[in-house]
Amino acid sequence: MLQLLWRAVALANIFLFTTTGLQAQKVMQPKVTNAYWSKPYPPFRIAGNLYYVGTYDLACFLITTPKGNILINTGLANSAAQIKRNISMLGFKLADTKILLTTQAHYDHLGAMAAIKKITGAKMMIDAGDAAVLADGGASDYAMGGKGAMFAPLVADSLLHDNDTIRFGGVQLQLLHHPGHTKGSCSFLLKTSDAQKTYTVLIANMPSIVTDKNFNDIPAYPNIADDYAHTLHTMKKLSFDIWVASHASQFNLHSKHKPGDAYNPSAFMDRAGYDEQLADLQKEYEEHLSRR
Ligand SMILES: [Zn+2]
Repeated sequence: MLQLLWRAVALANIFLFTTTGLQAQKVMQPKVTNAYWSKPYPPFRIAGNLYYVGTYDLACFLITTPKGNILINTGLANSAAQIKRNISMLGFKLADTKILLTTQAHYDHLGAMAAIKKITGAKMMIDAGDAAVLADGGASDYAMGGKGAMFAPLVADSLLHDNDTIRFGGVQLQLLHHPGHTKGSCSFLLKTSDAQKTYTVLIANMPSIVTDKNFNDIPAYPNIADDYAHTLHTMKKLSFDIWVASHASQFNLHSKHKPGDAYNPSAFMDRAGYDEQLADLQKEYEEHLSRR
């Protein structure tokens, strides 16, 4: 009798364990209300060895090198096929991707990351501030978390810190820690050349505010206000020739480039647009701070 009872308890434990295991595996991507976000969009060369391979709004960037390629961001869970097709339309191969990066650990940039890592075997590197959220699929995100995984979880192969430089295949990609939007949001700076010119390019993560809560009401991110202040301050001081960002709408891609346009890096030389965006974000930040 006792033995039977023990067996029943043991079975119950196994069942619970399995259920918990299943829940941990289950990924619930938030409902995307902006259908245009993930619409297919023709890939193009931005400048030198930097290409746009994302969807209509979810920017993904490919940096090609003779040793293989670097992919920054992946869009939603169902964006993998589009990114693969975009990369082949440019004459490259997704399979040649060696390094994977993101500008922020949210489902609209990491949705297809685990799948692409599985296909390519590339090394996933992430700003250390986003490593935990990457590993639990967004479940512990201070603003959007608490509802389980929102994208397939992934353990990073290496962690990056402010001003770290990734050196690969002749490319030097500098990480700029720009926290606030997520704890490990970041931008990247690189130099790229074509036959005419060398360009300094900023791949920016713009510090928009995700949370509805007051900044002093977020125990999961006590220094959020200081982080946003730091990010806004340092971003204003950056120098570059060309800038792009995590969302096409943030850098006005669709007014600067139309599908089929000839190669034209100068279309993305837009310091004024960048400064204007940052001024708006500064205002948004100050309004959020002054809320009671
Ligand atoms: Zn985001």
